[in-house]
Amino acid sequence: MKALSFFAAIAGMLAFAGISLAADPIRVMLLDGESGGPYHKWKLITPVLQKQLEETGLFHVDVITTPPAGADFSAFKPDFSKYAVVVWNYDAPDERWPAELKASFEKYVRGGGGFVSVHAADNAFPNWPAFNEMIGVGGWRGRTEKSGPFWYYKDNKLVSDPAPGVAGSHGQRTPFQVAVRSDHAITNGLPKLWMHQGDELYARLRGPGKNMTVLATAYSDPANGGTGHDEPVLMTVSYGQGRVFHTTLGHDINALSSVDFVTTFQRGTEWAATGKVTQKVPASFPTANSVSYRTDFAAMDPGYKRGLNPLDAAPPQR
Ligand code: ZN
Repeated sequence: MKALSFFAAIAGMLAFAGISLAADPIRVMLLDGESGGPYHKWKLITPVLQKQLEETGLFHVDVITTPPAGADFSAFKPDFSKYAVVVWNYDAPDERWPAELKASFEKYVRGGGGFVSVHAADNAFPNWPAFNEMIGVGGWRGRTEKSGPFWYYKDNKLVSDPAPGVAGSHGQRTPFQVAVRSDHAITNGLPKLWMHQGDELYARLRGPGKNMTVLATAYSDPANGGTGHDEPVLMTVSYGQGRVFHTTLGHDINALSSVDFVTTFQRGTEWAATGKVTQKVPASFPTANSVSYRTDFAAMDPGYKRGLNPLDAAPPQR
């Protein structure tokens, strides 16, 4: 028997047994290692994000952890080019990365690499111009009108507002409604409105907003310290040949357990990597008026195991 026909026969037997040989998985770098202050428990969040990607069967995830704050970064040279997409559960100040590392990430995305910015990743690197172009908008760490205008929806249109003021705010973590604003592979098949589990609703984000498409917004309610605007919560940005998916959702494991977070994160990561979305929308996706969350993910938070109500609002945190 020739080798080729031997393997064909094996593949045939596997197919007969209902086992398919999966296509090459999408290679994902999940980047972590630091977050601003004690607000984000990045060490607890990384396994949740990893499990959400791996359960799709589409991705192979490598976690890459940067050196800690204050350590020597000169030997930290991750090979971005091995990955179709880099997911950031990471937030650090400008001085943390040497110029060479910043240039390496810029080259990767500009050349067609995928980038997913989760929640406080858009707080990082306020004075790195290429990073701000990639995320479109960001907040905190001293961002002001020098970082670009505010971006939000008003009268159903995306507006850029040059008014002065610091970037970044949110109210108490309560559930809020998310509204789809653009036809896009990531949001295709989702309801036009859904309720998101208690989370920080980022507002007053500023940035260049260049080549940015706002996929979904949420109303920042003045009764909860909000702006009265419909704030962007899901965005895509094209940067060179690269695709960026930016979600401002996902402050903590409670928020990450919201089925809409899981679904849009899985779909957004596939899109950033390949430009397509092949995943179906789960039947458990939240409706316009009720949240839906995954207890398997919520239970990855030790606080949840102590019996805390996952819908309890907590004091405002970044
Ligand atoms: Zn947060």
